[in-house]
Amino acid sequence: MRGVKPEMAEALAVKDGRIVFVGTLADSARFTGTTTRQIDLAGKTLLPGFIDTHGHFIYFGKNLVDADLFGVADIPELIARMKQQIERTPADGWIVGFGYQVRQMKEGRPPTIEELNTISSDRPVMIVDSSGHLGAGNSKLFEVVGITADTPDPTGGSFSRKEDGKSLAGPMEETALNAVRSKRPPFTGELADAVVQGAAKLWASYGQTTAMEAGLGLGSDDIGVVLNAIDKKLLPIDLYIAAKDSAVDDTLTAAYGVAAAYNPAPDGTLQKLRASRPDLDRRYVNRVRLGGIKFWLDGSIDTAWFTQPYASNPAGKTGSYSGFRQIPDEVIEAAIDRFWATDIQIHMHMNGDAAADQALTAIAKAVKKHGMRDARPVFVHGSVLRPDQIESMKRFGAIPSFLPSGIVPGGDSVVKLWGADRAAKSIAAQTFLRAGLPFTFSHDAPVSPQPWILELVDAGTNRRSGSGQVIGPDERISPYDGLRAVTAVAAYQLKEEATKGTLEPGKLADLVILDKNPLKVDPLTIKEIQVLETIKEGTTVFKRETGGAK
Ligand SMILES: [Zn+2]
Repeated sequence: MRGVKPEMAEALAVKDGRIVFVGTLADSARFTGTTTRQIDLAGKTLLPGFIDTHGHFIYFGKNLVDADLFGVADIPELIARMKQQIERTPADGWIVGFGYQVRQMKEGRPPTIEELNTISSDRPVMIVDSSGHLGAGNSKLFEVVGITADTPDPTGGSFSRKEDGKSLAGPMEETALNAVRSKRPPFTGELADAVVQGAAKLWASYGQTTAMEAGLGLGSDDIGVVLNAIDKKLLPIDLYIAAKDSAVDDTLTAAYGVAAAYNPAPDGTLQKLRASRPDLDRRYVNRVRLGGIKFWLDGSIDTAWFTQPYASNPAGKTGSYSGFRQIPDEVIEAAIDRFWATDIQIHMHMNGDAAADQALTAIAKAVKKHGMRDARPVFVHGSVLRPDQIESMKRFGAIPSFLPSGIVPGGDSVVKLWGADRAAKSIAAQTFLRAGLPFTFSHDAPVSPQPWILELVDAGTNRRSGSGQVIGPDERISPYDGLRAVTAVAAYQLKEEATKGTLEPGKLADLVILDKNPLKVDPLTIKEIQVLETIKEGTTVFKRETGGAK
């Protein structure tokens, strides 16, 4: 994975968690001792362990603890799955389910408050759909959080009321859902353990040896969940954390506490660590590292912020619509000014080019004040970037982390909303490649329903939408370049290229074994390739049971 062309090796040797040799089988003999375990891959494919450059590991782990509502066909099935969740939930916990989609359900509507009351009348019940933006609750839920039909809706959200307006109907949207969700009792003890253990198992099953939580602080107990994992050494794979903007100071304080506890300076105090922040070496402590901070500059397909209007308006929007700004310029400018010259990496969610303009203007101001640094700001998704913006990104060392798997389910809607030309130029992987600029692929799980790395390579190679149309054939890339976007370049994005991303002596023995070589199969079948084994620093952290399902 190190060069522009693939290189193949016959043998690889590992000692004490690091790669010590890569080359021919004959030459590997000198690394073989009496206790050496030799493994014949018998034609299977070994690659550097996959690196998650934008996912939501903790958020997803919490969903795993909740009832799985993905694919429910109707309301009775949803209720049945939620009833099973009661036994799994501690007595003081809420009964929570995640992942249903109203448009996939027979009734075409979310359950009513009465239907949710049949799950439990004396314990809070909350369901959240797969987008994470819509949900519903039972009567007990609204009682414990103190919300009635008379409670005013928060800005940017709503609680549905029955026709007479005098009682709650159950469903809630956006900020209203967030307000309720934030009152959920924290995950502690075994529940907190289960969050990271479940997510780690899942991430490793898709070949990842490094995971990311790109928004720590979405839940008020997130920091506690991570500290619990550090204290109990629960993580078998690395976890890079980017703190949600509003949680950054709390997260930094927690990180300094961890650094002080695990790596105390001789006369070290928390204050001294804080003062030395720009140069603080953010090494992994028990597999966790605070790497960055995350901002959301715009929305998704129907709320991406553009300089040009949408080709056709999303439902409910009239007139000339081009999406909208999520945070004021001053806020992002102050943040980049604060962190540009430190080792805290800046991640900015953006889909539209107006959002990219906002980011680039803020970076330009920071560069003018502090000088150019090796900051590698991440343009998360970076779906639509104009040529002049790509030039600026090159100047500032900014790296997009594209979400190619979004093309598969959402590509046809993107063409309709953004227009065929803008859709074709989106996720400009081939443009970046030709310009010699780095880019990565990320799944943003649970936005992609699974943290499935090979699906990204497949989608970036084929760019086929749900209906089978190829969206932007000129931006297709080779499977090899797709693999580099989730290994070597991914390590570079995380500033961990010295230890990860390629199979070279001295690097960590972070490895994945696949049943087929992605460079040799029909590109349309890349996502059918199975991960057989995942190895973190020489230790197997996932092994597929033979004969099992994908
Ligand atoms: Zn995300």
